[in-house]
Amino acid sequence: MLRRFQPYFRYLKAARGTLSAAVFYGLLFGATSGLGLPTLVKYVFPPIFDHDAPPMELKYVLLIAGSVPMLFVLRAVSGYLNSYYVQLTGVRILESVRLDYFRKLQWLPLSFLQRKASGDLVSRGLADTAQLQFTLSLIANDGVKQPMALLGALGFLVWQAFTTDGALLVLVCLAVVPLTVLPVHYVGKKIVKRAQHMQSQLGDVSSHFMENLSAAREVRAFGLEQREIERFGRATSGLVNAQMKIVKYAQALTPAIEILSAIGIAATLVFAYHARVKWETFIAIITALYLCYEPIKKIGYLNSEINRGTASLERLEHVLNEPLTITDPAVPAPVTRFRGRITFKDVTFAYGESPALQSVNVDIPAGTICALVGPSGAGKSTFANLVPRFFEVGTGGVTIDGIDVRAMRLADLRGNIALVSQEPVLFNDTIYHNLALGKAVASRDEILTAARNAHAHEFIEKLPLGYDTMVGERGSLLSGGQKQRIAIARAFLRNAPILILDEATSALDSDSEAAVQDALRKLVQGKTVLIIAHRFSTIRDASMILVFDQGRIVAQGDHASLYSGNALYKSLYDRQAGAA
Ligand code: ADP
Repeated sequence: MLRRFQPYFRYLKAARGTLSAAVFYGLLFGATSGLGLPTLVKYVFPPIFDHDAPPMELKYVLLIAGSVPMLFVLRAVSGYLNSYYVQLTGVRILESVRLDYFRKLQWLPLSFLQRKASGDLVSRGLADTAQLQFTLSLIANDGVKQPMALLGALGFLVWQAFTTDGALLVLVCLAVVPLTVLPVHYVGKKIVKRAQHMQSQLGDVSSHFMENLSAAREVRAFGLEQREIERFGRATSGLVNAQMKIVKYAQALTPAIEILSAIGIAATLVFAYHARVKWETFIAIITALYLCYEPIKKIGYLNSEINRGTASLERLEHVLNEPLTITDPAVPAPVTRFRGRITFKDVTFAYGESPALQSVNVDIPAGTICALVGPSGAGKSTFANLVPRFFEVGTGGVTIDGIDVRAMRLADLRGNIALVSQEPVLFNDTIYHNLALGKAVASRDEILTAARNAHAHEFIEKLPLGYDTMVGERGSLLSGGQKQRIAIARAFLRNAPILILDEATSALDSDSEAAVQDALRKLVQGKTVLIIAHRFSTIRDASMILVFDQGRIVAQGDHASLYSGNALYKSLYDRQAGAA
């Protein structure tokens, strides 16, 4: 069981300083509790009760009495320091596990992330890492302390067996010890599955949370408040049920062990009577026995926590062990700045079962402004997503300047591409920092120039804090047109030879519209541009048009030839022109 956690002990290794301190005080705690108390009872206290002996000097009485608080102070201080260092180790582990998990999320292919609810991924990163931390630090803590206490107490029992006449008694006591392991084992087995179920319910609850918050407008617009509350209520009650199933088993453990130990004590009493064991021997043995059961109980608890930890570990490993399918090649092709010729050769791609692109062949010369048109769901975005290798082609290949995208370092490939999406996402930071994302190292001058080129400078200057204005979560404090201009400014700053542009479908206010169009006209100069086009003006101005239908490119050419030669294009274009 513990072997499951082995790869993760490297986290413990990183915290070995605090861990050693924890273990040292744990050992001290174990020794003072398991061995210390029975020793006092057996060897230090008896003179106090020996009423036939000559009276002792007061200082000896005080010394004997004082040994109790001394022992307990030592036990308390070592117990405290042990817990302190265990916690310290724990939070350090938690930090590194969480960082590793987060690091992994940055590199996982988009296709993996799209299959998961983001709330569930968050829950794995917060709740499951917390459970794992708890388990690991419990192992580090009680995993040493309790077996030590148990060994101390067992050692005392064995020592008694050899030095006094109560050997048989000791054997009887010892016989009960393995029995107590049975409930521990049984409960442990019951818990793993239930714990996994509970953690996934927790994932459901946080998915609901995230989904609800991100759809706050829709909830109000469609009057879904009550429905949402009910849905959330179902998720939380599922969680409560799952939690109680664990409580049911975990809480049964202590009483079960206590009943078994009580039977052990009863048996010991019977044997003590027959073997004519002395009172102080009996008391010492009972104390040692009690001190055996205490650690067994704790070890039982440890065991159930290990099972819960295992469940969380499996959920984390589901993400941590997910292969990174989109990675740098072992020997990357040397790439500098692209000229920008994009070629698709026999490309097929599917998100799931049915293909989103089929036998796509096209050659887009460097410097072409290429409009992608077609009904929705035809495969235009998919086509554009394959260029920066957001997804991996099924068969065939995408090359840029004759080099397959899979042969290049991801950073080289993506560094040569700028992306302006339909709904640009901004980070909750200042406008300045949001612009600066466009380029790894950019001077203030470069950033201001880019903002001017994108017609963003004007509106930024008018904001009370100018470039230092915070944009809110996902840029919620800016208008759609403003966000677009910031995204365009980023692309100016990036100055990449390839530009992928997802044109906004919804109309912007006319000022923004004119500014955005003008900025875009400047931005596309001299670049290879893929535009997922919705505006007929954009389409007409493109030097090359690809018409998509059901995952295929059904026609290509310029506006005039397609308009007269392709029925689908003509109907799409007329609809656009009619709408405009
Ligand atoms: P377009 O951009 O032309 O509207 P897309 O490229 O977005 O079309 O979609 C092409 C096909 O792939 C559609 O059938 C769509 O349902 C499917 N699709 C798009 N994105 C995903 C995804 N992330 N997961 C699964 N299927 C997808």
